[in-house]
Amino acid sequence: MITSSKQIVNEVYNTTHLDEALSLIVKRSRSTMGADACSVYIYDTQSDRFILMAVDGAMPEEVGKAHVSRNEGLVGWVAAHEEVINLSDAYDHPSFDHVANIGNGSFHGFMGVPIIYHGRTAGVLAAQKHVLQTFSDDDAAFFTTLAFQLGEAMHHLLTKWDFSRLNEPARGKMLIHGIPCAPGLAVGNIILSQPADLQSTPDRNVQDIESEVNIFQAAVIAVKKELQAGKEHMRVSLSDETLSMFDAYIMMLESDKLINGTVARIRNGQWARGSLRDTIFEMAYVFDQMSDPYLAARAEDIRNIGRQVLTHLQQAAPESRTYPNRCILAGAEVGPAEISKVPRDRLAGIVSVQGSALSHTAIICRALEIPAVMGLTDLAIGNLEDCEIMLDGNQGVVCINPSPMDIDAFRQRMQEEHAIAARLETLQRLPAQTMDGVAIPIHVNLGGGADELSMNAEEYEGVGLYRTEFFFIARDTLPTEEEQYRLYRDLLKFFAPKPVTIRTLDTGGDKRLPFLTIAETNPFLGRRGIRFTLDHTEVFMTQLRALLRANAGIGNLQILFPMISRINEIDTTLGLLDRAHSDLTAEGRDVTKPRTGAMIEVPSAVYIIAELSGRVDFFSIGTNDLTQFLLAVDRSNPWVQGINDNLHPAVVHVVSDIVQRAHLQNKPVGVCGEMAGDPASALLLLGLGVDSLSMTPSSLPRVKWAIRSFTMQQARGLADKALKIDNETDTQQLLNRALKAVGLNALVREN
Ligand code: PEP
Ligand code: MG
Repeated sequence: MITSSKQIVNEVYNTTHLDEALSLIVKRSRSTMGADACSVYIYDTQSDRFILMAVDGAMPEEVGKAHVSRNEGLVGWVAAHEEVINLSDAYDHPSFDHVANIGNGSFHGFMGVPIIYHGRTAGVLAAQKHVLQTFSDDDAAFFTTLAFQLGEAMHHLLTKWDFSRLNEPARGKMLIHGIPCAPGLAVGNIILSQPADLQSTPDRNVQDIESEVNIFQAAVIAVKKELQAGKEHMRVSLSDETLSMFDAYIMMLESDKLINGTVARIRNGQWARGSLRDTIFEMAYVFDQMSDPYLAARAEDIRNIGRQVLTHLQQAAPESRTYPNRCILAGAEVGPAEISKVPRDRLAGIVSVQGSALSHTAIICRALEIPAVMGLTDLAIGNLEDCEIMLDGNQGVVCINPSPMDIDAFRQRMQEEHAIAARLETLQRLPAQTMDGVAIPIHVNLGGGADELSMNAEEYEGVGLYRTEFFFIARDTLPTEEEQYRLYRDLLKFFAPKPVTIRTLDTGGDKRLPFLTIAETNPFLGRRGIRFTLDHTEVFMTQLRALLRANAGIGNLQILFPMISRINEIDTTLGLLDRAHSDLTAEGRDVTKPRTGAMIEVPSAVYIIAELSGRVDFFSIGTNDLTQFLLAVDRSNPWVQGINDNLHPAVVHVVSDIVQRAHLQNKPVGVCGEMAGDPASALLLLGLGVDSLSMTPSSLPRVKWAIRSFTMQQARGLADKALKIDNETDTQQLLNRALKAVGLNALVREN
């Protein structure tokens, strides 16, 4: 039974329209359970009702017309209670309703299960029987599993549905909720970033059919060569039997089904990538249906081959793309490389299915001031090319297919936002000082790829975090000492004499170097930051030498070390810094030792602050990672972003602890994580005793506005209260009330 629910979901994935998918669900469910009728209702945001979308065995004329509100009839009861019911006689249930229960006249047995997506009812599956009898345990297990699996796939399916609705404007717009990742509003048309997977490969017509066939055939030959080379490479380490797997792959690759199927589709006018996608899905589907686990697993092999051929198609014909004005770059996983390809003046916004507010792509978007929404789990983004959308980076909402009236209202909001921004600009030159005269050093986070050296250095007090890894990530090779020297030197000169804190390479996690293939199952807990550079002394020494040379004669450099979790890491690191210093001195260069600092972003570092204090000059709290590790919430995983909150009492307490421990040793402590850039949280951090803040430049005016509206005593009062609160929602409300009380409604973050 469980297998058959999986089969149904696989079939559903291979449909191209939701209508088709839903009628398949009801037909297959009905036959699997031997029910007399099966139906599916889907939640419609506009009418706030559940609409009958497909039925098998009863009243097909009601499809698309019948609907129920939450709590109306049995279906509404299931939707409202988010519970399964399995009744021998629907008539006995207090919520039974003649009108709301479709074709109920002759039915008694009733089972309803909610389809839950992201904690909310997205639809209801219902099954009915003429006889007075509950559904069996097996049926109940099958039906609930199917609903569960559909819930997980819902976003994907809803996008398909709404995509098919896009040609029918009367049926309206679709709102999709994701994670707000970079503030701002944008209206524009979607342009897809190079898709990494078949699923999000879009349809496209092709003009030159013969050359498209040739491109496809060349990609197949290239994959065949790769497989043959792989086999040779592995010959010494694998048995003949295992090696024959390569031959099996080659056979699948060269099968008539794959080659002829794809070529036939190309000849029908679909480009090679779309033709390959459809052929691979068709082939994989056949294997997916097989109950023999060995044969079923071949579906994954087929998809792997498809991915390999797709990669070659992408390399063979890199698209020379024209980017329209006000385009919204969208993709399954939009990364820094894709963003850098679009001219900044044409890029209105970013939509990424993967990602979250603390992912590094989000940080770059904020640095570049591009509104961004991410974490739109399982959205079928490939279907949305060219669609007009409105993107709200403040609330994390994307509106597909808005009406002209929606767009007018949205543009009005955009103008209001501009007015606030203009007002904030006047704050730029004023000091960050509380109302009782306490000046707070506010620095900027840089290194995210913007044209940073064209900013007005006068307006900033210094750089609190320069992320060097983005310089490494944007290249195909490791940068040389000379290249790094020039980068750091320009930066230090630009801000001199103000302090510039440059962090050594913090690769790993979601910041993978493109030219290194490190496969780790859990990269955020793996070879990250200092662990990587201590493993690769040659890379580290090059960077340290470049940094010391860049500082010569200027003297405003501070070096910050990421991901410190043990004392011996800092000892070895400082030993290498000494070595770089003495080597350069021996070479006759006039270098001095800069101030050094440790990031406090791994919980273990909190408890060795006293020991670290004997070795470094300052601390910088990385609240992004510290929150991730403290709450065990992956900062890049959209499914858990709802609980990734740095107002969690554990985070508030740990910041307080860090400050006390550092101050006991007379060491200053700043915050450079994203928490510092949120006005309300910034007030809290000051109240907790943090000495300085560092944030993305676009956050600075709002934070300054907050600081200039409070006294230090008020900030301390807020921190004292927050330390007594046991949940993040109440702390957020405490801070919001404080902002509103001084008229700063525009800075309030509503969750
Ligand atoms: C942090 O973890 O808070 C931090 C500033 O570093 P990054 O976001 O680059 O990991
Ligand atoms: Mg970090």
